[in-house]
Amino acid sequence: MSTSPAPANVVDPALAARLPELRERYAALQSRGLSLDLTRGKPSAEQLDLSERLLSLPGEGNHHDASGTDVRNYGGLDGLPELREIFAELLGVPTAQLLAQDNASLRLMWDTIVQALLFGVPGGDGPWSAAGPLTFVCPVPGYDRHFAICEELGIRMVTVPMTPDGPDAEAVAALVADDPSVKGLWVVPTYANPDGSVVSEAVARRLVSMPAAAPDFRIFWDNAYAVHHLTEHETKSANAIDLAAEAGNPDRVVMFASTSKVTFAGAGVSFLASSPSNIAWFKQHLAFRSIGPDKVNQLRHATFFGDAAGVRAHMAEHRRILAPKFAAVTSILTDRLADASVATWTDPDGGYFVSVDVVPGTASRVVELAGEAGIKLTPAGATFPYGKDPADRNIRLAPSMPPLDEVEVAMDGVATCVLLAAAEVAEAATTADD
Ligand code: PMP
Repeated sequence: MSTSPAPANVVDPALAARLPELRERYAALQSRGLSLDLTRGKPSAEQLDLSERLLSLPGEGNHHDASGTDVRNYGGLDGLPELREIFAELLGVPTAQLLAQDNASLRLMWDTIVQALLFGVPGGDGPWSAAGPLTFVCPVPGYDRHFAICEELGIRMVTVPMTPDGPDAEAVAALVADDPSVKGLWVVPTYANPDGSVVSEAVARRLVSMPAAAPDFRIFWDNAYAVHHLTEHETKSANAIDLAAEAGNPDRVVMFASTSKVTFAGAGVSFLASSPSNIAWFKQHLAFRSIGPDKVNQLRHATFFGDAAGVRAHMAEHRRILAPKFAAVTSILTDRLADASVATWTDPDGGYFVSVDVVPGTASRVVELAGEAGIKLTPAGATFPYGKDPADRNIRLAPSMPPLDEVEVAMDGVATCVLLAAAEVAEAATTADD
């Protein structure tokens, strides 16, 4: 991942002089009556079409898994062995430590935390809910649905900054060391949502080995974008489960993944991987919630992919569709904004998002201006707990869903809004100096 030039903390006063030109350009943008949407990281219809064959699989008469189980019947709590094997290879975990479950990894994250609250986890001394108010460490910018889970469950959130190598590990270590209320840390290790960073081995080692005041501290290792490369280079995040075991904290990491952005979003297969004792713990409670996952869908996926190479080839097709859209975002932001020093942005090697930092105090104004010109953006603040970005600076862009020509139009419009909001600040500063 590379990033654009360093952020400007103060806006160049000279930008105020461009206000009339920018207002004119914005009026022209508004008059186009656009209706464009860069809000959420959804696959486009063209991407979904890549998996169309799934709809006719596993096919009549094809209903046994590799071990001879009839997938149409109850049972098989761990998920289909052959599908687990494929994803164990891709995620770098032993098959025995990987469960294949139903359609959403977010559900597995929710279940893990709720089970911890109700029953406690291995290595702990009782239900988390009995331990008083809990705290999770949330790297920012981050994924809004992680924060929403915490908010819904009454878990306090404290933030640490993201770096190009993942969360600021020293900041995390300082928070975790002395406070036993800190039970969790969110990490998106590969092509993070939204900043595209990848957790380095050094950061992973620090996170899995740092002393934690809570003996049952857990890292929620959400590997949602493990195979979602935008270049030919298949960047891999560090193997946290192995490293945690090596560091003597084998139960610290719980990994999640899914095929939501591999096959059908919301109709794929989810995965949970962890230490043998965490897997046994998760299954012990899972057994009350379900007699077994949707094995028909799992067989459909296993047949569709064949093997791990099949997944990689399929992801290369996604890349063919997605890479030009991300390239358009980078080149338009560079062309329009680089000289003005009003923003920095990520240029990710994978994943679904571009993270943009605009002039502090203007992110909500940019989103408002874009919205009034028919370009819907993720609300400012969404990448922070409670929806509040203290600097009102970060905006998450999701270019996957609209066709390329719409991404181009939308990004040109966004650039105009970023410049206009910055020029408004420059003018206000000039006026205040008068
Ligand atoms: N984790 C991250 C980091 C995501 O960006 C997303 C999708 N936006 C999810 C999880 C959701 O995954 P699933 O569909 O498997 O619940």
